[in-house]
Amino acid sequence: MEKPKIIADSMLGRLVRYLRLSGYDVLYMRCSDEEILGTAERLSRVLITRDKELFEKAINKGIKAIYVKSQEIDDQIAELINKGFKFNKTPAEARCPICNSDVEPIEKEKVKGRVPERVYNYIDEFWICKKCGKIYWHGGHWKSIKETIENAERKAVGSYG
Ligand SMILES: [Zn+2]
Repeated sequence: MEKPKIIADSMLGRLVRYLRLSGYDVLYMRCSDEEILGTAERLSRVLITRDKELFEKAINKGIKAIYVKSQEIDDQIAELINKGFKFNKTPAEARCPICNSDVEPIEKEKVKGRVPERVYNYIDEFWICKKCGKIYWHGGHWKSIKETIENAERKAVGSYG
């Protein structure tokens, strides 16, 4: 399944981060309902929202939309897994969580001096955002990302009974 392009409402900041890290192209907007719906329609993006009213407005306008009811991040991810989304536990296919651009591998030598020395000494694989230049690696913070996704996967399976 090709990854749908997404537009998310402003209540879903953490979920947006996880979606981008998993390679989803996600627009994240702080603006009025009308602007969000207009953009979703114009760019044929799927709206993900925690706002029931906004969700219903989207459906009435024929815009594809997903209503996320949970507040906790792992429950939110579980809801999307049950709708066919896939979450990654490494940055290999990630988009930049900050600016939503493509991330590509970069040679280790090229990040010398641009990442903390202890990271440079222990990590061999790096990725760089093509647009904002931020450098990513599979470091300690991925442990908690991985745990959150694993929790979500357990909850998603559980909900099938
Ligand atoms: Zn970026």
